[in-house]
Formats: sequence, C-alpha cells, structure tokens
Amino acid sequence: MPSSSPTRSMAAPDIQGQMVFLGTGTSVGVPMIGCPCPICASNNPKNHRTRCGVVLGLPKGNLLIDTPPDLRSQLLREKIGIIHAVAYTHGHADHLFGLDDLRLMQFYLGGPIPIYCETRVERRIRKSFDYAFNTPANLHVGGAPKLQLHSIDLEPFELLGMRIVPIRLQHGPRLQVLGFRIGNIAYCTDTNAIPVASMARLQNLDVLILDCLRHQPHSTHFCLDEAVSLAARLKAKQTLLTHLSHDLEHEETSALLPEGMKLAYDGMRIPLS
Ligand SMILES: [Zn+2]
Ligand SMILES: [Zn+2]
Ligand SMILES: [Zn+2]
Repeated sequence: MPSSSPTRSMAAPDIQGQMVFLGTGTSVGVPMIGCPCPICASNNPKNHRTRCGVVLGLPKGNLLIDTPPDLRSQLLREKIGIIHAVAYTHGHADHLFGLDDLRLMQFYLGGPIPIYCETRVERRIRKSFDYAFNTPANLHVGGAPKLQLHSIDLEPFELLGMRIVPIRLQHGPRLQVLGFRIGNIAYCTDTNAIPVASMARLQNLDVLILDCLRHQPHSTHFCLDEAVSLAARLKAKQTLLTHLSHDLEHEETSALLPEGMKLAYDGMRIPLS
C-alpha cells in the first residue's frame, strides 16, 4: 500500500466540468474474444470498445457510474486517479465486477467509498464481494474494498455538489434498471424501453446518452432504428449512442445517423451542462 496518499490534484489532471466515457462496448467488449470479423480486427481506435462506464467531474469530486471489469485500465488510460462516489445502473457483470479495482480509494478518501444503488444491486454486491463485508482475518489491510452503501430509489438526491435524478428504465421485460440525469445530461444504458412516467425526466436535455447494441432488434437492448426513433421523440440537442457491439462499425454507422446523433467512443469527453 502507498505510504502517502495522493491528493486529488496530485493524482490526476482535474476532470471537473466534464463527462469522460471510460467504456462504450457491450458486455463482451469489442474486439470480441475469438471473433475474426473486420470490425473486431479494425485498427480504428473508435472500434475498440471496453465495457460501459462513465466518470463525471462534479463540483465536489468524481462520480463514477458503474464499475466495469475494465475499470483499472480505463482509469489509467484516462489518468483519473481518484473516484469519490459510485452510482450503479444495475448489477450485471459488465457493470459491476470492476468494483474491486476501487480498493485503493479507501486510502485516498480516508475512509469507505460511498456507493449509491438500488436494493437488488446491493444484494448482488453483498454476494459477489462478500469479502468486503466479512473480511477474512488472513486478508491484509486494503485487501478488500471499503464500501459505504446508500440505498436509492427514484427520489432525486444530492451528491458531490449536484442533484442526481434517477430514471426508471426497462432492460428487457423482467429487469428494471436506472438511468441518471445530472444537469441537462442523461445517461441511459442497458435499456430497450423507457416507461412513459420516465419520459418527463428526459425533456429539455442537452445530451442524451442512449443504449444501442446493434442493427437487429434485441430482447434487452435498443437496436439502431429504435434508438434513432426514440432520440427523435426526446429531442435532446445531441444524442450519443453507447453499449455498442461489433455490429456497428464506427465510421459506417456514423454516416447513417441523423444530425445531432453520434456514436460515443472510449475516451470521448463532453462538457457537463
Ligand atoms: Zn451492459
Ligand atoms: Zn467481431
Ligand atoms: Zn445489463
């Protein structure tokens, strides 16, 4: 463990006022292991997609949405040295299992890292990371993440100097997940249906970040046509598509998109509004 802990300024250039896309790929990433297709073999870095997550540089610290399995390499790549809090969309493996990479934060923050999630996600965290709650005696100090769990529902809450508005989304017919609105940006990954009651929270957006898996329809994710028609209804100034599979080549797909829509890519940064 480090003998001295980096402060926010030592750890990394500040990302305050920005949203950074850590990953924009579907659950298996792009390239996919063992796939010989031209997109998986592409040299265009915008076709290299790690698992989905974003960091927002809020007034009082860095908020991470989800902890993808690629988290360590993503934070190193973006030179983001500290995370002050995490909010979860849902508990699927591609959004959760990088949580252990936040072990160092207990030293940098001087205590546990605050985690905001729904109770079903909390249950998954307590199962998958049981050693963080009943730390075995043989584990060294810092060998388990230190977590402070906060239960959330659809009630907006204050975090790191901003109001966070949860948005109910359907991820297939049987799983309800959360999107988040922060200022005039909304992050809505892992969904293929937005309940009518949630639409009011998605009005007057500067940026809508929306799930879009592939060309063909899918049982738990939006396909390209569905994402395009939903974006046209919601009328955000800009819509960025994420959770992309190897079906969507960056340049080819970008050429198909209407004005105001783009594919997100790993490392993309946008200003918070
Ligand atoms: Zn996912
Ligand atoms: Zn492929
Ligand atoms: Zn999912």
